[in-house]
Amino acid sequence: MPASTAETATAAPSAEDFVRPHLRDLAAYTPIEPFEVLSARLGRRPEDIVKLDANENPYGPPEAVKTALANLQFPHIYPDPETRRLRKALAELNGVPAENLLVGCGADELIDLLMRCVLDPGDTIVDCPPTFTMYVFDAAVNNAQFVTVPRLKGFKIDVSGIRQAVQRHRPKMVFLTSPNNPDGSVISEEDLQAILDLPVLVVLDEAYVDFSEEPSRLQRVLTTPNLVVLRTFSKSAGLAGLRIGYGAFPTGLITYLWRAKQPYNVSVAAEVAACAALSEPEYLEHVRATLIQERGRLFEGLQQIPFLEPFPSQANFILCRVHGGRDGKQIKDRLAYDHGVMVRHYANKLLSGFIRISVGKPEHTDAVLSALQSLSD
Ligand SMILES: *Cc1c(COP(=O)(O)O)cnc(C)c1O
Repeated sequence: MPASTAETATAAPSAEDFVRPHLRDLAAYTPIEPFEVLSARLGRRPEDIVKLDANENPYGPPEAVKTALANLQFPHIYPDPETRRLRKALAELNGVPAENLLVGCGADELIDLLMRCVLDPGDTIVDCPPTFTMYVFDAAVNNAQFVTVPRLKGFKIDVSGIRQAVQRHRPKMVFLTSPNNPDGSVISEEDLQAILDLPVLVVLDEAYVDFSEEPSRLQRVLTTPNLVVLRTFSKSAGLAGLRIGYGAFPTGLITYLWRAKQPYNVSVAAEVAACAALSEPEYLEHVRATLIQERGRLFEGLQQIPFLEPFPSQANFILCRVHGGRDGKQIKDRLAYDHGVMVRHYANKLLSGFIRISVGKPEHTDAVLSALQSLSD
């Protein structure tokens, strides 16, 4: 088709001509405001902001991590695509063969990698909200559908609802989270087994299991061909900024993940840091115990706030229902702008009447409780 110069100009292609149709409908990306932005706005130093909105570990990793990063020997060399050193350490720690472990750029990468290996466009996953929102986000990016089976009272998963959804929609994957984000409840053995008995791949996200009394189900992947268990260094090991997580996978499935993953998905710095963190188990244990103890103190303090109802949690955060005619978003804003205390509020309908507060150091507990107290005066 011969085109005049004018025609060529009007026919200039736009992004819509190229971008995959299902992505055009994706909600616009809303970036998280970095806490440096809030600190600049409040005229406080970043370290003076009480950051209790993303379940990070305020103690950070052990000193050995900083030393190892300062002495990185081969930053100019590509990383080991098989993260052998770290997988060996993780195999010893968890009592599973390294062959069943795969490391990712955060557990987040592994959620997406799994979906890219399992889901065809139009396939379905089961989501049990309120829960971690990356499952439906990644499903949407991968052109998959999701069926929603909301949690019951006390945030218990609705086993018969999931069973019905599996029968009706033939989903390929069910995402379960124990302890669950945002409420910190755990899945009972009976409920987990009932879901594993369904003809579906069960992804059990254990990002917070170190803070719970429940044993990890990681070893179960060796005897359960439809179970995947995900873990991360972001929360209990204090490495959220370095992006490193891992998963345990049945032998049949992991072969395909190896084929599909980016060869250099885990940086040299991230692997070195994770290995150094694992070399200090006493430190990790101490931090874990300290945070669990502080969770108790935060919970008791929150019970005293007249407009909040905290839920018992087995993770490093506490979800609170906001009542007494108060507004969750407003509380979040007042805490941030008047007190430099950041907590999590959710725009979605299911959770707009809640705030989630991460467990910090004792001084952070003091700061958030006194700020909340001043909001109730
Ligand atoms: C934080 C979190 C993750 C993400 O872990 P990364 O390793 O930082 O990607 C995964 N699952 C849940 C439930 C989380 O809250």
